[in-house]
Amino acid sequence: MSDTPEPDVRGTLPVSHARRHAYLLVLVVLPLLALGAAVCAAWGRGVGPRDLMIFLVMYTVSIFGISVGYHRLLTHRSFKCARPVRAALAVAGGLALQGPVTLWVAEHRRHHKYSDGPGDPHSPWAYGESGLGLLRGLLHAQAGWFYTARRRSSRAHWAPDLLADPGIRRLDAAYPLVAAASFLLPAALGGVLSQSWAGFWSALFWGGLVRYAVVHHVTWSVNSLAHSFGDRPFTTRDRSTDLRWVALLTFGEGWHNWHHAEPTCARHGVLKGHHDPSAVLIRALERLGWARDVRWPDPARLAARLADTPADPSAKAA
Ligand SMILES: [Zn+2]
Ligand SMILES: [Zn+2]
Repeated sequence: MSDTPEPDVRGTLPVSHARRHAYLLVLVVLPLLALGAAVCAAWGRGVGPRDLMIFLVMYTVSIFGISVGYHRLLTHRSFKCARPVRAALAVAGGLALQGPVTLWVAEHRRHHKYSDGPGDPHSPWAYGESGLGLLRGLLHAQAGWFYTARRRSSRAHWAPDLLADPGIRRLDAAYPLVAAASFLLPAALGGVLSQSWAGFWSALFWGGLVRYAVVHHVTWSVNSLAHSFGDRPFTTRDRSTDLRWVALLTFGEGWHNWHHAEPTCARHGVLKGHHDPSAVLIRALERLGWARDVRWPDPARLAARLADTPADPSAKAA
């Protein structure tokens, strides 16, 4: 994975050796160790109902934070909302431990600009079309690029709107605190509910460490699997797909083909049976008066995109 194809793309900056090794540790090795430990622990002792409940609460907050906060609100501006709601969604995204919001947004906007072509930070097709190339590409898209990429997206280039927002800049600066809270909140909850240190440590493991590893790999499946396998009901220039089980785990983000067709649309699951809990949450915020100017799907554009689709979608994907 050392020779990642990296064209000279505008809006990127070199990453130091030390930082790449830090990414390797925090974003690749630690989550894998946590998942391995989780399998061993679940095999040996199972997961108690208290830890399971804390895991699910933290998972739900993290996934909504990424899908509704980092992604639909702050990257694609699919809706507007009051500052406290915007701040709450951004903090929830931070709890997923996928980096400060401006860096996440910069990488994702570059992904949309160059999707599955030279310049995409994490296309599973980066190593070609062969079976081995795709396998290598899937590993690259899932987590390998955190280490192998020698250049990062420039926040000044890709996210100047966010950098101009003092609230977002403060949140970026407070990211280490948010990261600490991502572990301490579930641990404290476990300690209080159990009235014991054993409950504290066990909730730190399941609701902190294991949840962070699961949330990472579930989110990154959108980058890898939802650009490789699944249906392509809409015409796009990239290879984005719809994958039902990824959509289920990511609260709607796995309906990735429509998302690439209409990136600013607040709803990703637009076809019959395409459930999208993130869109349900945005609708609820809208009804409460906490979200406004929501970009819901335009039926005419949707119909046009479907009508454009060739009989054999794979022919368009090439
Ligand atoms: Zn994508
Ligand atoms: Zn997107």
